[in-house]
Amino acid sequence: MSAIRRVVIAGGGTAGWVAAAALVKQLGPLLDITLVESDDIGTVGVGESTIPTSRTFHQLLGLDEATFMRETQSTFKLGIVFENWGKVGDRYVHSFGEIGRKSTWMAPFHHFWMEAKAQGFGGSLSDYCFELQAAEAGRFATGEGATINYAYHLDATLYGRFLRKLAEPAGVKRVEGKIASVDQDPESRHLTALVLESGARIEGDFFLDCTGFRGLLIEQTLQTGFEDWTHWLATNSAYAVQTESVRPPVPYTRAIAHQAGWRWQIPLQHRVGNGIVFASDFMSDDEAKTKLLNEIEGKPLFDPRLIRYRTGRRRKVWNGNCVALGLASGFIEPLESTSIHLVKIAITRLIQSFPFGGVSEAVADRFNDQSRQELENIRDFIILHYHLNQRDDSAFWKQCREMAVPDSLTARIAAFREAAEAHQDGIELFRVDSWVQVLMGQGIEPQSYHELARMMPPTDLRDALGALAANVGAGVAKLPPHAQFLQSYCPAAA
Ligand code: FAD
Repeated sequence: MSAIRRVVIAGGGTAGWVAAAALVKQLGPLLDITLVESDDIGTVGVGESTIPTSRTFHQLLGLDEATFMRETQSTFKLGIVFENWGKVGDRYVHSFGEIGRKSTWMAPFHHFWMEAKAQGFGGSLSDYCFELQAAEAGRFATGEGATINYAYHLDATLYGRFLRKLAEPAGVKRVEGKIASVDQDPESRHLTALVLESGARIEGDFFLDCTGFRGLLIEQTLQTGFEDWTHWLATNSAYAVQTESVRPPVPYTRAIAHQAGWRWQIPLQHRVGNGIVFASDFMSDDEAKTKLLNEIEGKPLFDPRLIRYRTGRRRKVWNGNCVALGLASGFIEPLESTSIHLVKIAITRLIQSFPFGGVSEAVADRFNDQSRQELENIRDFIILHYHLNQRDDSAFWKQCREMAVPDSLTARIAAFREAAEAHQDGIELFRVDSWVQVLMGQGIEPQSYHELARMMPPTDLRDALGALAANVGAGVAKLPPHAQFLQSYCPAAA
């Protein structure tokens, strides 16, 4: 095992710059970090909706939130509104909030709510979630001591630039140029250098593959292998286009299902990000592009850009002295906006077990195993949205409904259907509240629930639920409109 000091990051998209900023912040004095990127190739240019873990990651970088938001034209995100998913005309919110906020109860809140419903009161489950109601009302505020749970919508290009502005002065060396080949040690097969088209050689002890879908190091060089998930997640194409804003930004992402996939709408301060995700077996490129252009609001800022992808995961994200991050490591699909989160969690984990003394197979194996579990849990959550549908308007939705899903997901669906049981496993990203919102949103009505709620006298249950809903309503009413708060908190330069 030989000491590792020189880290080379191949690629300067969101993955590359997130990795560079985190590494230099946490381990800067111990490492020599170089990032290679190609302006000619550019970045994927999408990836603008995040989840709340981004806030923790930004704290780790020591970022000032208002500065970050101003420079990346960000808005706040309280969840995702799903339209037409269970059935055409359906609508539900997967918010980042906790439902009910009654941690002393022995069963999650939805069991108490189901008992109330059985007794003829209780309203809607969404009445008990502060973030959800704030999203619906288009209201938002945060500040010292605020407990509201939120994420961001951000401009992907500006985010890369912002992180670069942090990373370069802190010591990351940036090299512009196209990587033409990758050198390997003939015996160990470990990577030794990136060779650029200019002839320059960038030598390193450890490499991060952030080259996007190409996987220049992890796949094209190391031939690590890819586990294909297309049979569960059939979309493979997207058109992305930005539009002028025509209304104040809402604090949520919109995910609007259509006959062969879905469409996103992500409001930023200066524009709106839009795209259509589709399965090319069920919709042609022309049809998708026309549909997108017909359905977006506001003037497009350029012609829609086509992006192809394959859903699945790299068999190992850590192979030898190379770790793949971002799209090079695999891609589930953009629904639920987890990809940037996965970059952040992976680089954090790498920092925690950084192989200064040389690569340990045991450490790499553990890293790979954790990454696999994490990804499979998210995969199941995404498949759920497609699988639990009652849409009868297209062959795509019929196929999604009838496909065999992973056993892990079949078990989850059965547990919820039969007993309203939802859980969060140890390493799992999505919490009980997320599973409940989506399982119910997609149309499952559990056959039974925990009897604990029946031990509460009906008037106590009614009073408790009434007080909770009233608190949520009163709290939301005190918030300013989202656009107004943005204007005071982090107005972006025009
Ligand atoms: P890229 O942005 O493709 O960057 C690759 C980098 O490698 C570039 O700098 C490129 O120049 C460089 N490179 C490649 N080859 C070479 C070479 N030969 N020489 C030199 N440099 C090279 N994620 C979310 O979290 N939220 C979302 O809402 C979301 N929406 C998405 C929508 C779609 C349609 C898609 C496809 C993805 C979405 N994602 C989303 C994922 C997100 O876009 C990515 O995780 C994120 O942008 C990171 O991309 P990347 O840096 O891995 O790759």
